[in-house]
Amino acid sequence: MSDEEQKGDARPEHPTPLRGPNEGVPARPEGKRPSVAADIGALATGLKTTLGEFFSPAVTLEYPEDKSPRSERYRGRHYLRRYENGLERCIGCELCAAACPVGCILVIAAENTDENRVSPGERYAKTYEINMLRCIFCGYCEDACPVQAIVLGPEYELSDTSREKFIYTKEKLLEPLPPDVEARLKAGSPHPPASPGTSPRAGK
Ligand code: SF4
Ligand code: SF4
Repeated sequence: MSDEEQKGDARPEHPTPLRGPNEGVPARPEGKRPSVAADIGALATGLKTTLGEFFSPAVTLEYPEDKSPRSERYRGRHYLRRYENGLERCIGCELCAAACPVGCILVIAAENTDENRVSPGERYAKTYEINMLRCIFCGYCEDACPVQAIVLGPEYELSDTSREKFIYTKEKLLEPLPPDVEARLKAGSPHPPASPGTSPRAGK
């Protein structure tokens, strides 16, 4: 069989039309005559519905100016948190990466030194990356973290213009320094030593 014949056979059959070419509009049911009053009544009923909806309270939001509230347990964009003294919480233990079911977290740890103390522990995350295109927002990383360093916040507007921009680096994930700590660091003072009792901030 030639290619042309095969193409012809592959054409789908048209469905049977509901109305034949010589069939007109269905006849009006017997006993029902055209009536201007009935048409005006139908129009008034339609307008009543329209006006009723026009003056009823709106159920839609003017997104993106207005945003619907997120629930407390909503899992959106990740953040790497700090202690109140400015030190990073992350100790580079890689438990979050091990718990991630899709393997989208990369942690490379380095040793803290007295000259360069980044976190209270022995190690800190020198590199911390999350591939947000692979993330399924399950929250396992947050559950696995022993120091509540990685958390999923309420932010859900994560669109961007290239795949590369969805690799969230440590710089992008890390909370900003508290203003007083930033001022102290600018003045040349080092981080204060982390006290063992430093507790996670309220709420998480
Ligand atoms: S939320 Fe789930 S998928 Fe996303 S980085 Fe955390 S563990 Fe991985
Ligand atoms: S975010 Fe938490 S679990 Fe992940 S490496 Fe840092 S301390 Fe460990």
